[in-house]
Amino acid sequence: MLYVLNHPLAAHVMTHLRDKTTKPATFRTLCYQISLLLAVEATRDLVTVEKTIDTPLEPVVGHVLHNQPLVIVPILRAGLGMVQPILDVFPDVAVGYVGLERDHTTAVARSYYCKLPPIAPQSRVLIVDPMLATGGSAVQALNVVRAQGGKDVVLVSIVSAPEGVAEVEKHHPGVPIYTAALDRELNAKKYILPGLGDFGDRLYGT
Ligand code: URA
Repeated sequence: MLYVLNHPLAAHVMTHLRDKTTKPATFRTLCYQISLLLAVEATRDLVTVEKTIDTPLEPVVGHVLHNQPLVIVPILRAGLGMVQPILDVFPDVAVGYVGLERDHTTAVARSYYCKLPPIAPQSRVLIVDPMLATGGSAVQALNVVRAQGGKDVVLVSIVSAPEGVAEVEKHHPGVPIYTAALDRELNAKKYILPGLGDFGDRLYGT
């Protein structure tokens, strides 16, 4: 199931993020902003419970988050750029890491690191990777998170290619994918078109 952000602010941020003249410092701010919008969307269905509190004027029945554990799993290294905005709104989350490196000649993801916190069946796990290109990394990350017991797992990606979405849907049907843009296609080097180039390089100025 693919959910594409549909908000004027998201379109605005995405346009500046794609712009090749955007420098790393601004790129990081834009990455923060779009990740925050995506995190809000990817947690829209979290369960709340009623809580009565007193405003300075009168009591009111409000709603607070039920204590469903939340876990973020960034795919290293570019996924790291999406962690802080989620931590800022959900301070109690646990963070796990999956290190997958794309071989620039074969475009195949190789795992070099994996450290996950305990994942309960009721945990909402957000796997975050800014570029869903071939889908190879996302499928591998979903494999490890599900093997650790993840049942309520969603994928959060800033730009997605149709090929990556299809790959995830083939191996993990029914996993929700939240993205800010569904782009046209991959090029021969497996970069997303129009895309925004190499996300990690733009984030870290490498
Ligand atoms: N990873 C990136 O950083 N950019 C792409 O276009 C595809 C994968």
